[in-house]
Amino acid sequence: MDKNCVFCRIIAGEIPSQKVFEDEDMLIIKDINPNAPVHLLLLPKEHYANIIDMTEAQSQNLARCIKKLSTIVDDLGLEDGFRLVSNKGENGCQSVEHLHIHILGGERLPEKLA
Ligand code: 5GP
Ligand code: ZN
Repeated sequence: MDKNCVFCRIIAGEIPSQKVFEDEDMLIIKDINPNAPVHLLLLPKEHYANIIDMTEAQSQNLARCIKKLSTIVDDLGLEDGFRLVSNKGENGCQSVEHLHIHILGGERLPEKLA
């Protein structure tokens, strides 16, 4: 845990959040400033800044977290589809340095960048 990291503090329960799913590997919360009708953040519980910094073990943990989405998307209002985004660094406009995956959906999203 990094005590200066807002997502570590959310995971530790020090900062309140709207949790929609939690298990031993990850927390999924509602984004405080949503950009879509459903805008969630998948937070691995372990602190690392981004996919470039992550270890092999962390990458396997992240893969497990993403795989688990298949069992919960319908309960999250994402049954008609969704978009996963992970911003990295300045050009990616990353603002919180704890790896997170945005999960966006709940309507047909604007045309994609990629
Ligand atoms: P980034 O810009 O790093 O890709 O995404 C960070 C996201 O975290 C933003 O969408 C922002 O709204 C969200 N965020 C920042 N602080 C908090 C917080 O304290 N609680 C919640 N739920 N979301 C946050
Ligand atoms: Zn953190």
